[in-house]
Parts: sequence; C-alpha cells; structure tokens
Amino acid sequence: MLMTKKIIITIDGFSSCGKSTLAKDLAKKLNYRYIDTGAMYRAVTLYLLRKGIALSDLEAIDKALASEIKIDFDYDKITGKQITILNDENVESEIRSPAVADQVSAVSAIKNVRVFLVKQQQALGLEKGIVMDGRDIGTVVFPQAELKLFLTADEQIRAQRRFAELQGNGIVLSLEEVLSNLQKRDYMDSNREESPLRKADDAIVLDNSHLTQEEQVNWVLTQVESLI
Ligand code: C5P
Repeated sequence: MLMTKKIIITIDGFSSCGKSTLAKDLAKKLNYRYIDTGAMYRAVTLYLLRKGIALSDLEAIDKALASEIKIDFDYDKITGKQITILNDENVESEIRSPAVADQVSAVSAIKNVRVFLVKQQQALGLEKGIVMDGRDIGTVVFPQAELKLFLTADEQIRAQRRFAELQGNGIVLSLEEVLSNLQKRDYMDSNREESPLRKADDAIVLDNSHLTQEEQVNWVLTQVESLI
C-alpha cells in the first residue's frame, strides 16, 4: 500500500479476540511496527511469579520495576510474530502458560505496573507507524491515535480459538478451563479501577466472530486508506 503519512492504529478488546494476529498482519501490510502489550503485562507477571513476590508487596514490586525488569521485543523473521524478551531471555512461550494467564489480570490492576508499561508503550509510538494492541491503548496509551479499533467476538468462539492455540503449543487444558480463564480475565479487566477495558468513544467496533482473517485485514485496510 502506498503510504503518504504514518499513523497510529490501536486495537483493544476482550481476551482472545485475535487482536495480536490482526495487529501483526496489518503491520506487515503497512510496513509498521506491531506491539502486543499483553505480552508486557505477562512478562512482568512471570518475573514476579519466578521471584515469589506477593502481589500485595507493593514495595518489592516498585523495586523490581525500577531496577530489575527490562522488556524488549524481537520478531520471528518468517512468521513476523513478536518474541518477548525479559532481561535478555526469550520468554515468549512461558508467558503464555496457565500459571501466568491466571495471575496476569491481578498484576495488570496494580497502578505502578501500568504506569511503568504505559510509559514504555508511549515511547514506542513516538514516531508513529505502529499498530498496538491491548486493553487501554485507545483510551489511555494513545488517546490521540488516528484509527482506533475495538475487537469483539462471541465468547464460545473466543474460547475455542484460544483452546486450539494452546493445544498447538502443547498446553493441555479443557475447553471449560480456557473459557473460565477468559471470563475471569474479561471481568477483572473491565472492572478494575486503573484503566479498565472499555471502548474509546471514537473507536470502531469490529465483531470478528464470523470473519476470516483476510476479511478483517481488508476491512481495516480500507479504513486506513481513507486516513492516509
Ligand atoms: O492480550 P493478552 O490476553 O495477552 O493480555 C493479558 C492480560 O494483560 C489481560 O488479560 C489484561 O489483564 C492485561 N493487559 C492490560 N492492558 C493491556 C494489555 C493487557 O491490562 N494494554
């Protein structure tokens, strides 16, 4: 696509709506950078779990954020998928484990964790030309973004998709367990005090329950074309 100007695209929505896949594919088409911010919250969660730091120990968490946690990204050259690096270690599979999924919403409700990560996310978008997905990207991280999407899909379909993805990664959980984790995270993410998940007033809703990946990407690209 011929680009005349670079913009910021935000993708927010419930768990397992395919936000990261859409963000990755859009970034590839537009030659933009893509950032899956959920991975950043997962990396902080993994660090705290490994160190045995209780989520109530805010002092230890502040210390870890200030001097112990460094998050970087790499990208798989073939698939374009993001690889999350925590303190120089590739933690991409470990951050998708059930143990991390179980705690990440509680970690992401901690104010200073959000302040720490939002600052890094905003710095990544300074030069625009970025697609970022998460829960508060259109509302808090980039309220000035040119294109904001709010993704949604039927809950059962989302659970099926996550179930298949976990199976593909060799993680054995029942469909009921996957659904229950989704529901729990959606509830906590939507009801927390700090930057709860909500649609930005100017975000476009995209229900992808019955759309193919190609249909979604093409639909968003037509929105982008009208903006650049
Ligand atoms: O996107 P993903 O499901 O990997 O995100 C994991 C968790 O990280 C979410 O359930 C949510 O608690 C948290 N998160 C957040 N804000 C973001 C991205 C993710 O609170 N911008």
